[in-house]
Parts: sequence; C-alpha cells; structure tokens
Amino acid sequence: MDSYDKVLEIVGDISANTIAPNAEGVDAEGPKLENGRVYYADGTQKNLDAIVQAGLMGITLPRKYDGLNFPIVPYIMAADIVSRADAGFVNIWGLQDCAETIHEFADEEQQAKYLPRISKGETAAMDLTEPDAGSDLQAVQLKATLIDGQWYLNGVKRFITNGDGHISLVLARSEEGTSDGRGLSMFIYDKNSNAVTVRRIEHKLGIIGSPTCELVFKNAPVELVGQRKLGLIKYVMALMNGARLGIAAQSVGIAEAAYREALAYAQERKQFEVPLPGSLLYLK
Ligand SMILES: Cc1cc2nc3c(=O)[nH]c(=O)nc-3n(C[C@H](O)[C@H](O)[C@H](O)COP(=O)(O)OP(=O)(O)OC[C@H]3O[C@@H](n4cnc5c(N)ncnc54)[C@H](O)[C@@H]3O)c2cc1C
Repeated sequence: MDSYDKVLEIVGDISANTIAPNAEGVDAEGPKLENGRVYYADGTQKNLDAIVQAGLMGITLPRKYDGLNFPIVPYIMAADIVSRADAGFVNIWGLQDCAETIHEFADEEQQAKYLPRISKGETAAMDLTEPDAGSDLQAVQLKATLIDGQWYLNGVKRFITNGDGHISLVLARSEEGTSDGRGLSMFIYDKNSNAVTVRRIEHKLGIIGSPTCELVFKNAPVELVGQRKLGLIKYVMALMNGARLGIAAQSVGIAEAAYREALAYAQERKQFEVPLPGSLLYLK
C-alpha cells in the first residue's frame, strides 16, 4: 500500500507540473503526419518522456518484465489523475493495457520479447476497427495469410488510437471463407517491420493530442497471439474489459476537472457586486 501511495504521488506530481501545463499547447499543435509516420506534438513527447523516466509504463506487469507489479486498482487511479491533466494523453499512456493482453494470452517467448519494451517506454495500439467494421467487429476483413510458417496482413484499419505505436495488437481474418467472429485471430505487429503506413490522422473536436489513425497494411509480417479463431471471441473481449476501466477512469478524470473549473469560476464570478447565489455553498 505504501508503494502504491508513493507511485500515485509521483503520478500526481507529473500530472500537475508537466502534463497539465502542456495540455493547451498539445491541443493547439496536435500530432503531425509526415511520410506515413506520426509525430506527436512537442508537449506529448515531453509528457511521455517524464512518464517513462518515472517508470510509469508497464505498471501492472510483473517485475521480471521490468513492470511495477501493481494490481489494476492503483493503475486505474493513476489513469484518473492523468486524465484530469490531459484527457488526450491518457489515450496514449493507457494503451499499456495491450501489455496485459500479451501477458495473459501470448506465449512466453513473445512475452519476453515485447513486454520489457513496453515497460521501457515503447507505446502500443489496438487495431480493431475498419471502415466497414465498427460496432460490428465480426465483419472485420483485414486479411491474414500464412506463407511458409509466417503470417502476413493486408488491408486497412481506421480510427486507431496511437496507430503508429511500436507494438500493435491487430484483429484479422485468418480463416478463409468465414464471415463471422469465429474466423478472426489476433496478431502482434512490430513497427520495426516497417510494413504499415499511416494514411490519415482524424481531425477531432477534443483529445487532439491523441492521434486517431487510418492504417494501411501491406504484407505486414506479424505473430499470431494464442490460438487461431479466438481473436475476437476471447482475446479482444479480455482487452476490452481492461480498456473499459481505463475509459471509465478517463471519464471520471474529465468530469472532476470540469467540475473544479466550473466551481472556481462560479466562486470568483460577481454580478451586481455580489457572488453568484449559492456558489459559496460548495467550498471545500
Ligand atoms: C477518438 C476515437 C478513437 C478510437 N480508437 C480506436 C482504437 O484505438 N482502436 C480501434 O480498434 N477502434 C478505435 N475507435 C473506433 C471505435 O471503436 C468505433 O468508432 C466504434 O466501435 C463504433 O464504430 P463506428 O464508428 O463504425 O460506428 P457504427 O458501428 O457505424 O455505429 C454508428 C451508430 O449506430 C449505432 N449502432 C450500430 N449498430 C447498431 C445496431 N445494430 N442497433 C442499434 N444501433 C446500432 C452505434 O451505437 C452508433 O451510435 C476509435 C474511435 C474514436 C472516435
């Protein structure tokens, strides 16, 4: 418990003194797309550097993968705090959820290969959605082909948060002739393979610092996670369970920040030379 408190103190410190002051600049600058690659806004990169230096990637991973070995509750509390400072940044940092899925379902060799990289600061992405497969993920078409023992992916993914991240979990159709969720498997794509390009970054109203990407896979070499055909019905379901907690924490963080902002304004606001009626009742 002592260790959780200390780490949450550090999260609070970085959120208040680095991430929050950078938030406005990140929103104004946004990420850039150059030659198929994403470049974060300056402030986003500084946030990430501070988070990595403090050892706040791989929070829930075991120590043997250089993680902090924390349970999910203090991790989610940390996500709430970071969200209060910059709700867009938490989308990038929170994708360490993908490491949980690799830890739970990938084999030992894959875990040893990818998890320490995430603990050291490499970012992740979950590539599920496609132009014609949003709510209905059973319709995913990205094609996975097995050639001489090596899997390759071809097709398009859309709306992928941090789509140019280092390590991506990708849902693809591995079973020819199928049309539902039972023909889908999950794969790990390593950006070092250089076989996926970013075609577009979406223009959004908010969470601007978080790049939402359209991706083109061209014979991208990938590794199968776990067993074929369990990609959607087992692994994505587990991934989403973690992601839901993160998004819930993000929502609480945004609501908390908005409430404090509104309260402070209501308390300083004077009309007819008096404070707004009732606004002082909520003083903490
Ligand atoms: C900012 C942002 C970040 C994202 N990040 C990621 C990411 O990192 N990875 C990823 O894989 N995806 C990501 N997504 C995609 C997101 O998961 C999809 O947008 C979502 O699944 C909905 O799909 P869709 O946009 O195609 O909407 P649609 O599926 O077309 O749905 C449109 C509307 O119709 C409703 N609807 C759909 N089907 C039915 C039905 N049968 N009955 C009644 N109503 C229905 C939906 O509820 C919705 O309101 C992101 C999206 C956004 C906006």
